[in-house]
Amino acid sequence: MPKIRISVLVPRPFAEPFDYLSPQELAPGTIVRVPFGRQEIYGVVWKRNEKAPAQALKAILEVVDVPPICEASLQFIAWMSDYTLTLPGQILKMVLPVVEAFEDLSKKRALPETRPPHPPHLSAGQQEAADCLRESLDRAQYQTFLLEGVTGSGKTEVYFEAIAHLLERQGQALILLPEIALSAQWLQRFERRFGFRPALWHSAVTEAQRKATFLALLKGEVRVIVGARSALFLPFPDLRLVIVDEEHDGSYKQEEGVIYHGRDMAVARARFSEGTCVLASATPSLETLANVEAGKYTPLLLPARFGEAEMPQVQMVDMRPLKMAAQTWLSPALRGALEETLARGEQAMLFLNRRGYAPLTLCRECGDRQMCPHCSLSLVHHKVQEKLICHHCGHMSPIPPQCPACQEVGTYTAIGPGVERIYEEVQTFLPEARCVLLTSDHLTTPKKIAACVQQIQNHEVDILIGTQIMAKGHHFPLLTLVGVVDGDSTLSGSDFRAAEKSFQLLHQVAGRSGREERRGKVLLQTFLPDHPLMQALVAQDRENFFALEAEQRQLHGFPPYGRLVAVILSGKNEGEVEKTARLLARTFPLHGKAELLGPTPAPLSYLRGKYRWRLLVKTEKGMAPQPLLRHWLLTRPPPVSVRVQIDVDPYSFF
Ligand code: ADP
Ligand code: ZN
Repeated sequence: MPKIRISVLVPRPFAEPFDYLSPQELAPGTIVRVPFGRQEIYGVVWKRNEKAPAQALKAILEVVDVPPICEASLQFIAWMSDYTLTLPGQILKMVLPVVEAFEDLSKKRALPETRPPHPPHLSAGQQEAADCLRESLDRAQYQTFLLEGVTGSGKTEVYFEAIAHLLERQGQALILLPEIALSAQWLQRFERRFGFRPALWHSAVTEAQRKATFLALLKGEVRVIVGARSALFLPFPDLRLVIVDEEHDGSYKQEEGVIYHGRDMAVARARFSEGTCVLASATPSLETLANVEAGKYTPLLLPARFGEAEMPQVQMVDMRPLKMAAQTWLSPALRGALEETLARGEQAMLFLNRRGYAPLTLCRECGDRQMCPHCSLSLVHHKVQEKLICHHCGHMSPIPPQCPACQEVGTYTAIGPGVERIYEEVQTFLPEARCVLLTSDHLTTPKKIAACVQQIQNHEVDILIGTQIMAKGHHFPLLTLVGVVDGDSTLSGSDFRAAEKSFQLLHQVAGRSGREERRGKVLLQTFLPDHPLMQALVAQDRENFFALEAEQRQLHGFPPYGRLVAVILSGKNEGEVEKTARLLARTFPLHGKAELLGPTPAPLSYLRGKYRWRLLVKTEKGMAPQPLLRHWLLTRPPPVSVRVQIDVDPYSFF
């Protein structure tokens, strides 16, 4: 007869665990199958319940035969639910992402093949940094490092040393990469260094692999996982080392569902398991630099590029005085450099962070522009599909043969360049050059990406034309010229981080050039040659630029010198969304250290068929905004037809 009452957290959006009866004592973290409504689901024993068992309670059905989830994971669930203002069950869902795996428990798995590892000989600077990481792992106390060094300085080799050290001892390591599906080169390097393949965790991994990895991890059989931000939540039994590569990268921010920043959660996760956390970047975020300054993170600096490689020379091309021929965007200077590079038998890359053929398609008679029917956004002309596409919701429509506004025929005209149009321009003036387009529209699967990377390595390509997906991590020895088609494109908009993000992106793009003996060159086309961003890129002066940026932030109390929480309201009924936003603004509690900005319609005021309003709460740095938000938002729940999303530490402001 079941006697003991236990509380079980289930991966469903409820604020509290549910009570069940158990025939025996079960440790917190034990995974159990329980009846839930008419379903049977998996949950986790949350805590012992002192209350007497009641007749009406249902009994648990099964104890899953894997070790309990560790204390650190449980603490992390509770903390993160508090921090992001989401329900603990929603976090648990991310911790137990493939419960179907428990049905496969009896299946046998093949052990991974191993070959002998290939440790490199480290430079003195690398050695010093690696020693610090090894010592930290030996101490087994929480510590976070910022591993900083220009692209190509050897950061990857340094954190590989930390992984090697861990593998000689105990525990698990997690490495987060910003675009793991694009990381074939990185994985090859890992395999060569360690002689085995790490387990992978990202959206392109098959269900069967995910199940196998998940079970093996729970049982402590997996030592190293390389993944996207979702890998953070896996129930590592003994996570000792967490590495966040390119820590400044915006793709660590999850914007849907449970909203969080993967880098910040990684630091927290390491803290709960007394682990070592390494944030690696050539252009750290201001948030991380502020934490270094405050003494919370330990800086490790690699001063120069590894070996003979020098940083590329960055030259500005002032576009203002140029009389460009119609429908061309490559300056004579850039065209000349492309020709010279190809003549030397080297490779070049043209960077433009704009997918598609043209950002805007207008009727040349009446100026009508094609908008997405579900979003307040212009549709973008794509040549591959020969369609107009919405970059937010994916809506596609044919290019209208006749303007619906003025009835003229054949008047739709492409305005401005996207990468596909730059490709066209290059093909016209260098018809012999072998070009390839690198965008998420053309490289749709990891396989295609790997094949393309191989082609570039084999020198079957002369000119790479791409968006930011090519900015990350790749190492092509023959690539010596990078042309930035529009250096100004990411500066506009309402984002207070625009300059910082532009610097990070453009520095990273520039870093693709001249990675070995041949010195690289970067041509930066701009209409804003006096802008501090352009000056900093030419002088390669990260420090001065960021100091200037920090000053601005400090002045306005923006992160990292103050805190922000965004509240986004959305719904089908425009009036109701607005009314709710205004009501919330009126009921915002008076507080000396917090202020409310807004409400205003969101920059994207209509998205996927819903109207959107935003409020922004700004607090002083020392103040945790969560209690205030909880109090404010819970006292007057919004109507069910209005969705409220809370974004603690927002990163985008659309
Ligand atoms: P980062 O991660 O800072 O961009 P990497 O670790 O990728 O730099 O190093 C840049 C290049 O230098 C890579 O090709 C890498 O293999 C090489 N490299 C770095 N450190 C060493 C080393 N100690 N021995 C041999 N090659 C190295
Ligand atoms: Zn849309």
